[in-house]
Amino acid sequence: MESRDFIRISAFRHRHPLLSALQHARFLSSAASVADFPPEAGPELAFAGRSNVGKSSALNALAGRRRLAFASKTPGRTQTINFFALGEAGRLADLPGYGHASVSQAVRATWDALIGGYLTGRRTLAGVVLLMDARRPLTANDRHFLEWLRPVAAARLVLLSKADKLSRAERVKALAHTRAALDKAALSSPVVLFSSKSGEGVEETRALLDRWLQNKKPPEKGN
Ligand code: GDP
Repeated sequence: MESRDFIRISAFRHRHPLLSALQHARFLSSAASVADFPPEAGPELAFAGRSNVGKSSALNALAGRRRLAFASKTPGRTQTINFFALGEAGRLADLPGYGHASVSQAVRATWDALIGGYLTGRRTLAGVVLLMDARRPLTANDRHFLEWLRPVAAARLVLLSKADKLSRAERVKALAHTRAALDKAALSSPVVLFSSKSGEGVEETRALLDRWLQNKKPPEKGN
């Protein structure tokens, strides 16, 4: 690599701490219940969305890596919250995918306790990213999740995933429909069309998440 290029990349990383943080993400632990959560440390970003929505692809796109650093289908880790350390920048929590039509009431209750416990109890939670499929946003499960976010003080961001599968007109419609529905439900949030495949929305999302990481101070010692 030419030194000129190196300087350019370094400067880019400096402007985008999230990119660097995600590149250095290190798996910490999986939690199946609130008691298993790792201690709070630094601002935490949470990612949520129904199974197959494109969450791990989005995380890898945001990290600028091809290698599957974030793989939500790791056996044994699909029903847990998976925590990652982002170096000095903070933490990331990958929430379990929801929305399998076949899940039993018992599974749903466990999920509710885990996610509900996380969202309402995690004091270092800086922001929550909810991924919804751009082709069918705001499913009943998405709405259920959004209702949970209502009382949570953390920032919110909605990503409309797999946007490359939509035509230009469909994208405009999906964006307008989602924004209007969120406004109507008084659940204000930025909404971004996102594609891990084309890279659409990646930069915009990084910029937003950078702000979240920088605004939130780590908890005081002893709290
Ligand atoms: P997760 O279960 O939410 O983590 O979803 P994955 O990231 O594993 O993606 C599920 C499927 O959707 C895979 O087959 C991906 O290749 C595909 N996928 C993910 N993101 C995109 C995208 O932006 N565009 C397209 N066309 N397919 C995607």
